[in-house]
Amino acid sequence: MKKAILLILSVALICSVALTLAACNGNERDAGYASRAAYSLDVAVREGLDEAYLTEEVVFTNSGNDDIDKLVFMLYPNAYRKDAENSAYFADMLKVNDEFGGIDISAVKVDGKENAFEVDGIFMEVPLDTPVKPDDSVTVKLGARIDIAGGTLRFGGDGSIARLLNFYPVLAYYGEAGWETCDYSRIGDPFHTAGASYEVKISAPDNVAIATSGQQISVTEGDGIRTVEATAADARDFAAVLSTEYKTSEASSGDAKIKYYSLSGSDKAEFVAKATDIFTEYFGEFPYPEFSVCESPFYYGGMEYPGLVVINSSLSDAEKEKVIVHELVHQWIGCAVGSDGAHEGWVDESLTTFLAAYYFKLAGDEAAFSAEIADCERQYAAFLLTEKLNSPGYVPSIARNVYEFSTLYEYDAVVYRRGCSMYVSLMELAGEKKLREAITSYYERYKFADASGDDLIACFDDVLGGKARAVMLSYLNADVRTGNIGV
Ligand SMILES: [Zn+2]
Repeated sequence: MKKAILLILSVALICSVALTLAACNGNERDAGYASRAAYSLDVAVREGLDEAYLTEEVVFTNSGNDDIDKLVFMLYPNAYRKDAENSAYFADMLKVNDEFGGIDISAVKVDGKENAFEVDGIFMEVPLDTPVKPDDSVTVKLGARIDIAGGTLRFGGDGSIARLLNFYPVLAYYGEAGWETCDYSRIGDPFHTAGASYEVKISAPDNVAIATSGQQISVTEGDGIRTVEATAADARDFAAVLSTEYKTSEASSGDAKIKYYSLSGSDKAEFVAKATDIFTEYFGEFPYPEFSVCESPFYYGGMEYPGLVVINSSLSDAEKEKVIVHELVHQWIGCAVGSDGAHEGWVDESLTTFLAAYYFKLAGDEAAFSAEIADCERQYAAFLLTEKLNSPGYVPSIARNVYEFSTLYEYDAVVYRRGCSMYVSLMELAGEKKLREAITSYYERYKFADASGDDLIACFDDVLGGKARAVMLSYLNADVRTGNIGV
């Protein structure tokens, strides 16, 4: 995620999962693979783009070591209900919003038989009469009506556009402590999902353009309805954006098809393709067959999903390009390499912020890179100065979960800006060549898998010869730069 707009609010949410940091070992069987799944989604979006009907089938395979006696799904649209306990809406939005959202599950079948299910806010539990044993599978089928919310947050639209982001029941992450059931948070990206495969059919009136994650394998029209079929592999989510106003252009980067869905009149397809070329050169090939960049009215600057990103249509051209680069880097760091957004948002955001600045250097503009780094440091210093005046004992640790940050401003300044400086320090310590080796080793080791903060630190420490850990921990856990900025 990249935020363009910052609001102040307080949150005090408790997540039922404790932080667990596994030792770095890329070859060990990852507990996250226990929640590997194959999804089939059939989504019919109604005229007016404010309602959709969903049929979903999930084949869940237990590739862990223990019997699993229930499945837990996350129903994120329920954070957009008017009476949601942990609302997706900020307080000022709640006052003016008049179209709320939600998802109503009509029935659940397990292996063909009607099954009980219990919905509690954004959580749905499906108890299993017969536990799923290691290496066995279970098939869950469900029907749902989705009320598409108003507003400019992730899930929602305004009648001419529908952002189907975090819109369908997705399995919670199954980790060492079992199913993770994390509350919604307005700060950060409170999501943690495992890689899965998707077969998706989305239909809408035929005046609606349909952008999706994955690879679109067919687009058909008949009886006034347009239907898109798409598949995705190794994707930890599936997103779609629909609009009656899109102008679409295409380009390519290697084997990856680039699509740009414009509302503002800008056409950034060629820019996206060139930026993709640059990061393909840096990391290795783009991890998905297609990459769709969708403009939208949006509260945030941008938001990443595998193979699809949303960017704020009201940004200036230069701002759009910066946001596109940030969300593009996430395709490698955050999407292909997964991490726990609720508890360790820094794992992908700090590195992505650094690489989005480093893009300028890779593109041959050293001065712009230096300016970006200086801007990061300035923003963080300004935040810290104010924060220390109000709370002299404040410690700006980066390694906190999203529930421990008080404001979006704090999250942005600490996780993004200070996190970026952490990588600048590593670059100064080890040199650009070694830093690149550490970043690409981390990518190769955890591509299409999940990395914890400890995994990331261990990988950097391996490559940078044992120097990285102390530097990283000083940023992650303590305030080493207080003296440098005069407070
Ligand atoms: Zn981000």
